[in-house]
Amino acid sequence: MKILMYNTVLKELPFVKDWAAKTGHEVVNLFEPLSVDNAAKAESFDAISTQQTTAMPAPIYKILANSGIKQIALRQVGYDVFDLPAAFANKIRLSNVAAYSPRAIAEYTLTQLFNILRNSKKFDRAMATGDYTWDAGGQAREIYQLTVAVIGVGRIGSAFAQMLHALGAKVLGVDPLYHAQNEAFLEYTTLDDALSRANVISFHTPLNDETRELADQSFFDKIQPGTIMLNMARGEIVDMAALEAALSSGQLYGAAFDVTPNENEFMNQKHELSELPENIQRLTKLDNFYLSPHIAFYTNTAIKNMVEIALNDAVVLANDGFTENEILR
Ligand code: NAD
Repeated sequence: MKILMYNTVLKELPFVKDWAAKTGHEVVNLFEPLSVDNAAKAESFDAISTQQTTAMPAPIYKILANSGIKQIALRQVGYDVFDLPAAFANKIRLSNVAAYSPRAIAEYTLTQLFNILRNSKKFDRAMATGDYTWDAGGQAREIYQLTVAVIGVGRIGSAFAQMLHALGAKVLGVDPLYHAQNEAFLEYTTLDDALSRANVISFHTPLNDETRELADQSFFDKIQPGTIMLNMARGEIVDMAALEAALSSGQLYGAAFDVTPNENEFMNQKHELSELPENIQRLTKLDNFYLSPHIAFYTNTAIKNMVEIALNDAVVLANDGFTENEILR
């Protein structure tokens, strides 16, 4: 089978080569995201795969269907980049890699929580000016004395909750789905109860109608002054203007975000600082806001798994087979 892989990143190439050698399939790499302009390039292929944060609008699926393509295998979790009705209308089957390494994201969330607790940014900035005093960063808090609300206790949220529990933190879980096995390391509760008790709030939900701007002004009004907020899930879950106000007023002690609603304007790209979106320029000047370029997933294990799982699914769906990773209507 001949597979066209869109938006390949260099770190994926060794795993692609290994997979092709193991399976005997041919993979051609294109280093740009799937778009209306390049969808027709799939014509001489049997299957396609992509990973991207830019949306795939409706016309793409018609072009693919006309090119004989039956599926798109996404090499990532978040499939809000698809136009699902347009894909289904054109009989394009879709798959995602729902769990390439939940621990990768959980470990990064923990890393950023420790950075905030230890005031790393303040200390780093002070030391860069020659200031090595304790006061430059301030005193830290210890994790085992904190209560952490995990909003969305799925694959990533439960991995994060287990790590926190192992470190001695009290963990609260908020999720409309109840999984009894999670009771071993967290206490399920309501969102309002979690907000009133938590020292740390961490989002691990998908973006959907309920979670879009879940953290709006009324949400920030309910949290304890001095709370820490972590968002490694999707930027649109948080109202960024309300976040900025909460960081400035002290309602938030600090926040770490790996995602923003406007990340497609600047993440995974190089810019002059002055060209960055204005709110990002303001936020990154703050000592208590930690921004990262959507890298929570970016480990060797995760990249290997996302390549292998997606390419396997591409073959299965192109052969009219079934995979548990298919996105069903
Ligand atoms: P998952 O589907 O296993 O878990 C999501 C959980 O959120 C589910 O248990 C679901 O019931 C729950 N949920 C849905 N709506 C909710 C709501 N309104 N309130 C509370 N809980 C709700 O997904 P996952 O694999 O754990 O991934 C979670 C999210 O993490 C993804 O959707 C994606 O946006 C994000 N993500 C980020 C990165 C990164 O690199 N930063 C990488 C992978 C995934």
